[in-house]
Amino acid sequence: MQTELAPEFRDTADGREAEAILRKCVHCGFCTATCPTYQLLGDELDGPRGRIYLIKQVLEGHAPTRSTQLHLDRCLTCRNCESTCPSGVQYGHLVDIGRKIVDEKVPRPALESATRWLLKEALPSPLFGPAMKLGQTVRGLLPAALKAKVPAKQDAGAWPTRTHARKVLMLAGCVQPAMMPNINSATARVLDAAGIETFIAKEAGCCGAVKFHLNDQDGGKAQMRANIDAWWPQVERNEVEAIVMNASGCGVTVREYGHILKDDPAYALKARRISELTRDLSELLPDLVPLLKDRVKAPAGVVAYHPPCTLQHGQKLRGGVEVNLRALGFDVRVAMNEAHLCCGSAGTYSVLQPELAYPLRDRKLGHLNQLQPTTIVSANIGCITHLQSGSATPVKHWVELLDAALRAS
Ligand code: SF4
Ligand code: SF4
Repeated sequence: MQTELAPEFRDTADGREAEAILRKCVHCGFCTATCPTYQLLGDELDGPRGRIYLIKQVLEGHAPTRSTQLHLDRCLTCRNCESTCPSGVQYGHLVDIGRKIVDEKVPRPALESATRWLLKEALPSPLFGPAMKLGQTVRGLLPAALKAKVPAKQDAGAWPTRTHARKVLMLAGCVQPAMMPNINSATARVLDAAGIETFIAKEAGCCGAVKFHLNDQDGGKAQMRANIDAWWPQVERNEVEAIVMNASGCGVTVREYGHILKDDPAYALKARRISELTRDLSELLPDLVPLLKDRVKAPAGVVAYHPPCTLQHGQKLRGGVEVNLRALGFDVRVAMNEAHLCCGSAGTYSVLQPELAYPLRDRKLGHLNQLQPTTIVSANIGCITHLQSGSATPVKHWVELLDAALRAS
């Protein structure tokens, strides 16, 4: 797709990157059919090809409107379109650039701005933990919409104390330790059982995704630099074999640090090294299966697995969870229909776009429930919380299931 950049974008890094991405798009529309928002709304402008066209217009100098902003807001950034695209269009990078430019030119209504500000400041804040604790204490009294965002209190169990020659760093995440602390401790216990020691760098915090995707890109980059600083001493000394992510939404972002900070002279090289070392927890599974196989007592019953978009489309990691859990004795199944489609969680999307997020959740649960599961598992705190808000079947992280099966043996 030929693009004639407006003078204001011609000499900018964003303008050049967007132009290179747009050049790859042949406008074929294959991506449209797999876009969740197009499937719900049936409007070309709520599909990837339409959004690409809107961004191209803005880059060529057309003034964006509130409607342009809305069509970009409705995108889940699930990157399903990237998986479908035969031309390798990096839609995720393009929509980040498009949203940033449009937000600079189109003011938002006061309430919307305030909500977005609150989300980007509150979720990664140290005050989120105490606020979640309070919410859990009065959970029974909360209105249904708020209750859906507050999971019941969870016992994290003990953190392993053994030391091992094999060591990894792990990102604890911003909301995960407060909402579902068992995910991190279960990860450490499973890795410990396989002879791997898990470290959490105290100074590391939010991966930066919340701010970055709410168009506070500078705030997001500051959090990315802080994480790099927190991890760097152990990385530089080659003490860890990987930086493990058990939330695929964080994983996809940390894998992008190298790209996002490529023009930062002080951090470009370090960011690239951090991204190269980053592994989703499921990537360690092939190595863990032979070590754990005889010690796992998998429970009876079907486990329905929802692969998060940030794993299957964002990180292009497919099959690893279900194949390896099956090798450990679990009856893991993936929905027969639309397993590639987003569940509607998408970070803060379920708060900002509930009229699309909840129909997508119910559609996803409908497919998962056809498997008649005893448990639903996923690999991202956002998907887990969102699916649980509409399901009586327990929804967990797959590592919690594995941890429980190890402890039952
Ligand atoms: S990222 Fe997802 S919601 Fe956005 S255009 Fe692509 S397929 Fe559609
Ligand atoms: S599938 Fe790829 S090349 Fe075709 S319209 Fe979509 S983004 Fe463009």
